[in-house]
Amino acid sequence: MKKWTVMLIPHDRGSSRTLNLSAYQIWLVVMVVVGLSFTTSFFFKRHECYVRQVKHLEKVRRDIETQYAQQLSAPTPQPAMTAQERLELEQRLRSEYDATLSRITAQLSELRDMENQARGLTGLAPRRTVRDVSMSPAGGGKGGGSSSLDALAYPEEDPKIVSPSVIYGLSQPSADLIIQEINLRTASLQELVRDLRAKQEEVTRLPSIWPTLSGRRDISSPFGFRKDPYTFRISHHDGTDITAPLGSPVIATAKGVVVYSEYDRGGLGHLVKINHGSGIETWYGHLQSRLVEVGDQVERKTVIGKLGSTGRSTGPHIHYEVHVNGVRVNPAKYLK
Ligand SMILES: [Zn+2]
Repeated sequence: MKKWTVMLIPHDRGSSRTLNLSAYQIWLVVMVVVGLSFTTSFFFKRHECYVRQVKHLEKVRRDIETQYAQQLSAPTPQPAMTAQERLELEQRLRSEYDATLSRITAQLSELRDMENQARGLTGLAPRRTVRDVSMSPAGGGKGGGSSSLDALAYPEEDPKIVSPSVIYGLSQPSADLIIQEINLRTASLQELVRDLRAKQEEVTRLPSIWPTLSGRRDISSPFGFRKDPYTFRISHHDGTDITAPLGSPVIATAKGVVVYSEYDRGGLGHLVKINHGSGIETWYGHLQSRLVEVGDQVERKTVIGKLGSTGRSTGPHIHYEVHVNGVRVNPAKYLK
């Protein structure tokens, strides 16, 4: 094989060196040098490419941040809608609106039914709906309620109620009508509450218990005709005589105000009278002692005296009378 000699001669006084290389070795060295230069160039180019990409990405990131900040500070302009899109949106919103109104009117119908049931229980006439009111503006009350309550219940002169209404199952109910209906229902329920309170007050003022505490008590002489224990003649007994231990408490049978508290010369001895309103009065006679004065407010079960035998009496008992509109009635039905 052909050989090549490379001499390396230093510029100073050092000894020279000789390299004996074959053609193959020289070719190999050249190839290695060329290969290295290509590889270096390739990686250098790649590096430049990466740097460019990183710079580009950095710019994109800054742009996005800027746009985001602008979106936060300024409203995004809405893209223009096509007529078809607008129509579809309108239809969707309309159908959602209709569905919501249908639910509200269904619930209002249920509320009105419950309200009418409650009004029926208290004797109040059913209140009409906006629809009823607007369809018969001259309307009047339905049976059961008083005229004054009906006037409250049917504010048909309200100028706002003018539409030929469209509620409770009818199509296209308007929000205004629903609001009016809610106002009617609210007023009706307020009236119902007032009525219930009045009835509750009425009940607390209705004599409904015995005038003596439970225990040893008995009716010794009922209301009605009997042989008088003093004269032995048939006469009318205006009250109910209830026996109980001497000195035991005598109680008011309902809420009221004391209108009489004196010794009765007519025969009932120590006597207390209580007015309960609505024309109802109760009398408690033959008391051993009276514990209330005229004008005193008493509640049901307030102790008003002690059981005795004063006046025309043959033994310890209470003479209990109930007056309705000035007429003595049988107290038996007020004893429970
Ligand atoms: Zn009597």
